[in-house]
Amino acid sequence: MTDSEVGKRGNVYENVVWQFNKASDLMKLDLDIRKILGKTTNEIIVNFPVKMDDGRIEMFTGYRVQHNNALGPFKGGLRFHPAVDIHEVRALATWMTWKSALTYIPFGGAKGGIQCDPFKYSQSELERISRRFTFALGNNIGPEYDIPAPDVNTNPQIMAWILDTYISTMPAHERQACIHVVTGKPIESGGSLGRDKATGQGVVYTVEEWARDKGFNLAGATYTVQGFGNVGSWTALLLKQHGSKLLAVEDASGAIANAEGIDPEDLIAYAKKNNGLISEYPKARPIDRKTLFQTKADIFVPAALENQITADTAPLLNVKLVAEGANGPTDPDGDQVLQQKGIDLIPDILCNAGGVIVSYFEWLQNKRSEFWELEEVDTKLHRKIVSAYERVRDTAKEYKTDWRTAAYIVALSHLDTVYRERGIFP
Ligand code: GLU
Repeated sequence: MTDSEVGKRGNVYENVVWQFNKASDLMKLDLDIRKILGKTTNEIIVNFPVKMDDGRIEMFTGYRVQHNNALGPFKGGLRFHPAVDIHEVRALATWMTWKSALTYIPFGGAKGGIQCDPFKYSQSELERISRRFTFALGNNIGPEYDIPAPDVNTNPQIMAWILDTYISTMPAHERQACIHVVTGKPIESGGSLGRDKATGQGVVYTVEEWARDKGFNLAGATYTVQGFGNVGSWTALLLKQHGSKLLAVEDASGAIANAEGIDPEDLIAYAKKNNGLISEYPKARPIDRKTLFQTKADIFVPAALENQITADTAPLLNVKLVAEGANGPTDPDGDQVLQQKGIDLIPDILCNAGGVIVSYFEWLQNKRSEFWELEEVDTKLHRKIVSAYERVRDTAKEYKTDWRTAAYIVALSHLDTVYRERGIFP
């Protein structure tokens, strides 16, 4: 696709296709490899009934798309959100393949989810929804085959229910050997130290590298965040340790700002007491979405959903850096505007890779019956994500291209090498 075709897309999967074609053209990726990577391997859709607290039955639709497993088992999160559909899951699964390939972890890419608004359900309903979805997926997931993890609106508790349901259907003697069927578990159930903060930690490690490259001081730097779930809140908390100042933040309930700075720790405590929602936080004033985008700051961290930085919103941004904590927050039009405005970008498949990197560490610990100290997890995460950052930076220079395309080139080169070495069966 050429630049003149920017804007001719609809769903988020078309963004992936656009990004993939741009990088493939530039690196002159072999046409056969393009054909393979341009398709998903398996797309599983399950409809399943769940009994509600009042005795009614509700039907749910769940998805698991497995994009590619050339580098290792399929890997990626599960999200519970009304916007989940096959196009979104397909896009997210494909990004997971690139993410693992870019960071050199031995996983493929997958993603799944349930189309639902989880805030409408009680804890016991959520438990039954999670368990029944796991049961419906059956052997489409597995510890050496396809390993789910948390994503939007899912968490360690949900992973524990999935684990328990999965192993309950296994022969008794295999159960304990299966706890790595999901990652992002609670620590006591086989989770890893550092997994909860891992995505935010990875965002901050890449921002630190960017700051070092630019001779930029994070102490006193200002930033805004879109999304205050796991990724947004951890990123804010960790940037606070650098002495950076949070000026504005948005979540599903609305956006707030304070020119003096918002204390992320205090905001997290407030959100915990208010159903996870921040819009009525008393130590900031409510603002609209447009004002959030217009807020002058050094760094903007989108940490919510896809297609947020677009032809409409990108022109509003007044920042030096966009650090993509979310998957796919910028569409191709948005990318073009950022480039025209000279705003730096740490692309999603690099910036938010900390989550799946520490998922890999959790998986390894489970397989080896080990338990690593937090310091060991953080040190290993730092090493992995910084070397991926360096590969992307160097590739952007070599190809004289933007960082998203460079990240794709690194990931695709890795996959290309593997396909060349192994060939295609038969
Ligand atoms: N959902 C996270 C992501 O999008 C983590 C996936 C994982 O740990 O498998 O990268």
